[in-house]
Amino acid sequence: MDTNRIIQAIQVSGIRRFDEAIGSSADTIKLTVGKPDLATPEHVKDAAVRAIRDDWTHYSPLMGFAELQHAASQYFHTRYGLTYAANDVLATVGATEAVATSLLTLLNPGDGVLLPTPAYASYAPLVAMAQGKLITVDTTANGFKLTADSLERALNSQPTTPIKAIILNYPTNPTGITYTRTELLALRAVIAAHDLYVISDEIYSELTYDQPHTAFATLYPEKTVTINGLSKSHAMTGWRLGFIMAPQPLIAEMKKTHQYLVTSTSSITQAAGIEALTNGIDDGQRMRAKYQQRRELVANRLGAIGLNYVYPAGAFYVFVQLPSWFNGTSWQFATQLAHQAHVAVIPGSAFGTAGEGWVRLSYAASSTKLTTALDRIATWINQMEEN
Ligand code: PLP
Repeated sequence: MDTNRIIQAIQVSGIRRFDEAIGSSADTIKLTVGKPDLATPEHVKDAAVRAIRDDWTHYSPLMGFAELQHAASQYFHTRYGLTYAANDVLATVGATEAVATSLLTLLNPGDGVLLPTPAYASYAPLVAMAQGKLITVDTTANGFKLTADSLERALNSQPTTPIKAIILNYPTNPTGITYTRTELLALRAVIAAHDLYVISDEIYSELTYDQPHTAFATLYPEKTVTINGLSKSHAMTGWRLGFIMAPQPLIAEMKKTHQYLVTSTSSITQAAGIEALTNGIDDGQRMRAKYQQRRELVANRLGAIGLNYVYPAGAFYVFVQLPSWFNGTSWQFATQLAHQAHVAVIPGSAFGTAGEGWVRLSYAASSTKLTTALDRIATWINQMEEN
């Protein structure tokens, strides 16, 4: 093929590939894709219906409707103390476009981008598409948390690469870890010393269970690009609404990239977003309470089964280690589990080589489904251990 080499070299994500590989047998419980099972709140849906009826169905300004920018600026101020002006908010097609637009705007060809791994599967291909050089930092040795030391080591290991930015994502997909303010301050010191941009993907910020979420921009406003959205907090993955928040003149540069990629996100979705951000400030907290109960259910059952896992501080994933008797890859383990126990989870290798030896279980599923899935896992593990 004579198509673009970068695109040739990337693959559809391991998450989707695995999901497709195991098929869609009706009796398999899928705890795979990070898709909330909860419904978008009724008042949010109503706002979208009203928008259609009122003919809010045309192009919007490039940055998004002023009402939406204003609502987002207020919401993120109330929730996390962020101080972005309405004009510093750019509405995007989900957090995914926000990451793409940020990378395409920040990077020159060959610029280094640090990424703590295991990590969400879209970052590496997007860095490649922006012609950046990905520098992964394996976090497995420290309970999947990036430390100031490991960051400093990674920076020093690349003397010939101009390192431009670091991607942070917390609460983290796939491990469910998050950082305390103190830990973030330690990272900030290294980041600021090296004058890096931070692309801080905080899409799971509302799903932080045991401590307040600290937005990185509150510690490092000058060079942080904050990414957030309504996909996870308001169960709106299908609406495709995210945000980039960054100071001027950076956000004005992002606007150009965004224009030529997508023009704007859907006007109807933006109407829903305005409603979610103004009258739905409690929705995220209500949903969090549900996920928190499920977290307890899953953690208790995994503990009883005797599997080693990372107790999640946020998001709706639990990262589970393959049992020591299993002789194979995480892909093989997840495939056997799907075919023999009829429970589907994602192989850790889908999140980079640092995820090998683990699988990710999503608890964005009803308690009934989770209970049945864990019953099946328990029975299967018992059988395997007896053999
Ligand atoms: N960032 C992270 C860390 C995610 O886990 C996901 C979705 O799973 C996204 C971004 C994508 O969000 P959106 O659906 O808003 O594009």
